[in-house]
Amino acid sequence: MLDKKVAIVTGGTRGIGLETVRVFKENNAEVILFGSKEESVSNAINLLKSEGIEVTGYYPNLNNYFEIESTLKEIIKKYGHIDILVNNAGISAKESIENTTSEDFAKIIDLNVQAVFNMTKAVVPYMKENKSGVILNTSSMVSIYGQPSGVGYPASKFAVNGITKSLARELAPFNIRVNAVAPGIIKTDMVALLPEEVIAPLIKSIPLGRIGKPRDIANAFLFLASDLASYITGEVLSVDGAARS
Ligand code: NAD
Repeated sequence: MLDKKVAIVTGGTRGIGLETVRVFKENNAEVILFGSKEESVSNAINLLKSEGIEVTGYYPNLNNYFEIESTLKEIIKKYGHIDILVNNAGISAKESIENTTSEDFAKIIDLNVQAVFNMTKAVVPYMKENKSGVILNTSSMVSIYGQPSGVGYPASKFAVNGITKSLARELAPFNIRVNAVAPGIIKTDMVALLPEEVIAPLIKSIPLGRIGKPRDIANAFLFLASDLASYITGEVLSVDGAARS
C-alpha cells in the first residue's frame, strides 16, 4: 500500500510509533524512525533488524528547528523525497492543576504541539516540491472528552486537532493531506505495567471489550497514509473501541 513511499515516524522507538514503523515496512515503504536518544534509536533499529526489518534512525531535538532541518537534508540526500510524516512522539500527564508547575505544562506543549509544528514546517517545502504528501498527527480521545487531571495533555491534543484541521485546508491546494488518529487506551509500555485491578475496570468501560493494540493505531495510520484515503483530509479518526472515559 505504500510502495516507493518514504516515511518519517517520530517517537518510532517503541509503542505505537514502533508498530507503525513495522506496518509501513510491511507495506513496502522506506521508513526513517526518530527517537529522543541515540541509545533508544539504536536499540529500536537492532530490534527491528532481529525481525528482518531494515530502517534508519535519527534523534534530532524536536524543539530545535535547525537540527530538524539539517536531519531532513540528510534524509533527502539519501532517499530523494519525503512522502509521509507521522508526528507521533508525545508525553502525557496525570497530575492535578495544583501539582502541575508551569514548566511541567510547557514541557508537554513543547513536545506534543511545538515539535509537531517544527517537524511539519520543515517537511512541507519538500512535499510542496513533490506536489504530494501526507502528514499524520497523533491525537487522543482526550482531545474530544478532556480528562479529569493532567490538563496539559488534553490541551496539547486539542491543539493537535487544530493544527490538523487548519493545515488540511492550507495545504490541500498542494495535494498534501493532513489527518490525525485519536487513540483510546492502547497497550503500550505505560498501560502494560498497570496492575490487573486497574486494567480490569478499564476494559469493562470499553464497549468493544478490550484495550487497543499498537497495531490498531498503526493500521489506521496505514489507511490514512495510503491512496485509499486520497479524498480524506482534515479528519481526526477515533480508534478507541467506543471508549468514552
Ligand atoms: P510511548 O511512551 O510508548 O512512546 C513515546 C515515543 O515518543 C517514544 O518513541 C519516545 O522516544 C518518544 N519521545 C518521548 N519524549 C521525546 C522527546 N522529548 N523527543 C523526541 N521523542 C520523544 O508512547 P505511546 O503510547 O506509543 O504514544 C505515542 C503517541 O500516542 C503519543 O503522542 C501519545 O500521546 C499518543 N496516545 C497514546 C495513547 C495510549 O494509550 N498509549 C492514547 C492516546 C494517544
